[in-house]
Amino acid sequence: MGRVINFSAGPSALPLEVLKRAQSELLNTHQSGMSIMEMSHRSKSFERILHEAKKRLRSLMNIPDSYKILFLQGGASLQFSMIPLNLLQKDNEAAYLITGSWSKKAYAEAKKVGDATIFASSEDDAFRSIPDFAESTLSKRTSYLHVTSNNTIEGTRISVFPKTNNNIPIVTDLSSNILSEKINVTDHGVIYAGAQKNLGPSGVTVVIIREDLIGKTEATTLPTMLDYAIHAKADSLYNTPPTFAIYMINLVLEWVESIGGIEDMERRNRKKAQLLYDAIDCSKLFSSSVKKENRSLMNVPFKTKNEELDQAFLHFAASQKLVELKGHRSVGGMRASLYNAMPLEGVERLTDAMTQFEKRST
Ligand code: PMP
Repeated sequence: MGRVINFSAGPSALPLEVLKRAQSELLNTHQSGMSIMEMSHRSKSFERILHEAKKRLRSLMNIPDSYKILFLQGGASLQFSMIPLNLLQKDNEAAYLITGSWSKKAYAEAKKVGDATIFASSEDDAFRSIPDFAESTLSKRTSYLHVTSNNTIEGTRISVFPKTNNNIPIVTDLSSNILSEKINVTDHGVIYAGAQKNLGPSGVTVVIIREDLIGKTEATTLPTMLDYAIHAKADSLYNTPPTFAIYMINLVLEWVESIGGIEDMERRNRKKAQLLYDAIDCSKLFSSSVKKENRSLMNVPFKTKNEELDQAFLHFAASQKLVELKGHRSVGGMRASLYNAMPLEGVERLTDAMTQFEKRST
């Protein structure tokens, strides 16, 4: 079929089964006589898809009924603004755990809305680790604490979330590790994730929000489309939602169910990541600068001894159809993204290529 092993950080590889299913249903979705892309978002057929996607996500992630699931647009980046606009209360502040470029961006947007403070940061360590933090340092006037669970660019992951007393909800950007490992939803007040890594194509952002956090804003100037209360009341159908992307999410969720749910997904992901980290740690050529305890299961940045060799390796890998391995420009080197749809064989092919390359270049 000419398909490659795609290590892209996002939009990223989707399960082949899902793509084939979408292909087979493209011209006539669910016996409607039309494509999902031609279907009204008010039709019974689409409503069923939306309902199924929500039901599947709720069951896979064990989301209690006291949380709403919203499908919004504007990417995870719009959530950087919607979170403070909806949750940051007058005379209060928002606290941010700064663990990488994305949390820095989220913090910068919050500062435009109101008072935002840095709870802890690993910027001094070039974001190669998750910083130590002490919940007791949070002010009583904190409306929420924002964290980024997986740092897509730097390759770190929070394994133990801060524990605040429940008056301070944790808002979690789960964009690059949603559905990849078990998390306890009730430890979080809000979870959001752009779909284009583990959930489906780009164009839709999932927001999982505890009901009592909806409609908290005092601002009467909040634009309608930025108000969680509006989207929650209209069940994500206030305006035309990204129908095709939601349809794809539903297929991806069905695929996750068929694998055995999140626990099996996590087992697979741990095995894949272990294989790659072992290859890096055993190598005399490749290395990782991320603190071991904080290593991501999803995004693995690594390097050779210099940029020239990095380039040569990228070339060598591409000749074996292993693509999108170039590291983010702020980090350099390589980055392999091992989202749910990456099969173990893909990682085996990568580690084989690393071994071959190391032999050739020493
Ligand atoms: N947060 C994280 C952790 C991300 O990885 C990304 C995108 N790679 C974003 C936020 C921004 O997402 P979007 O492009 O959907 O706005």
